[in-house]
Amino acid sequence: MNEHLDALYKDVILDHHQEPRNFGTIEGADVFHEGYNPMCGDRVKLSLKLDGPTLTECQFHGEGCSICIASTSIMTEEVNGKSLEEVRALIHGVRELLQGRGSVDSLPEEVGAISGVKRFPVRIKCALLGWTTLGEALEISQKGRSV
Ligand code: ZN
Repeated sequence: MNEHLDALYKDVILDHHQEPRNFGTIEGADVFHEGYNPMCGDRVKLSLKLDGPTLTECQFHGEGCSICIASTSIMTEEVNGKSLEEVRALIHGVRELLQGRGSVDSLPEEVGAISGVKRFPVRIKCALLGWTTLGEALEISQKGRSV
């Protein structure tokens, strides 16, 4: 873990925890989905707006520890306006990174900063909750469409 990312980790977690971005619920969202992490008690409720192959908006609500809230807040900033393909690639990248297989080089800097959580293995699930929940929400939306 390099020192730059280490310092960034603390700043980013603090900043996003104090002032979560895209915190709320989208009226008339296309998908609502909730994730829960029983290890810590974190709960995240996502609402998504989709336009064809694009995730136009993602907001979240919930309660949890600082790592969970900050990671989910960073996620909403990164995924809004991206294609579903890009979003899936990002979710995959974050999972790989936090499970120790991926590299930060391919990820946006704030997302890379979350990897500081690897020093606290029990907290990895907290950091992943929002991302995992978003992945599930996208799957649900695609199933709904194909029928
Ligand atoms: Zn937590």
